[in-house]
Amino acid sequence: MINVVTLTLLIVCLTIPGMAEAEFEKDVIETSAGDVEITFIGHGTLVFAFDGKTIHVDPWSNLADYTKMPKADLILLTHHHYDHLDADVIKQLRSDSTIIVLTELCAKTVKGGIIMKNGDEQAIMGVDVVAVPAYNLVHKRDDGEVFHPKGEGNGYVLTLGDKRFYIAGDTENTPEMKSLKNIDYAFLPMNLPYTMTPQMVVDAVRAFKPKVLYPYHYGDTDTDKIVELMKSVKGTELRLRKME
Ligand code: ZN
Ligand code: ZN
Repeated sequence: MINVVTLTLLIVCLTIPGMAEAEFEKDVIETSAGDVEITFIGHGTLVFAFDGKTIHVDPWSNLADYTKMPKADLILLTHHHYDHLDADVIKQLRSDSTIIVLTELCAKTVKGGIIMKNGDEQAIMGVDVVAVPAYNLVHKRDDGEVFHPKGEGNGYVLTLGDKRFYIAGDTENTPEMKSLKNIDYAFLPMNLPYTMTPQMVVDAVRAFKPKVLYPYHYGDTDTDKIVELMKSVKGTELRLRKME
């Protein structure tokens, strides 16, 4: 007869193969061109599945086992910092047909990609992609340099069907962010001291009014603060996912 320990072990063993997939939260968003499934890998890392294609944003091996994931159709790199540009994972995810959109500095490490400068717009795989400047206004290193100088990093606005997704990258509440229009889903970073305080996030949200705010790349920042601050903001829904 199978005892309880054996039975428990059996259940654990049967469960493990699916665990890598199951541990990540997912949201499904309807668009005029079919559903977008977003997988929240963590930190600044996301996966979008749309129209049979897989789009990876800043894939990072610290967060997931990429050998278990489908090859990328498109990889978006926001900037060259180690937690955003992981050359080994890019090799794993890359096939002959993978398109990589990146910055000039990323292109020194990853060859064969499409360089987008701040403000550039291109149709890639039938998806409209806009590169939005990502940079610090106030948060600096000890030597007085900002963590992310203007011109080095991109955020990206992707238009999937009739919905517009803004993945901000490592940035503060810049004038370029605040003047964005018609954003449905905004991913804004709160990792301190490198990016935005919850107050800066809310300042940006009040300005460009995304329909949904996903705080992402929030590190140790207390998410209760953004919950509290967003109570007084009308017209934007806050969705908290596991994205430290
Ligand atoms: Zn960075
Ligand atoms: Zn970062």
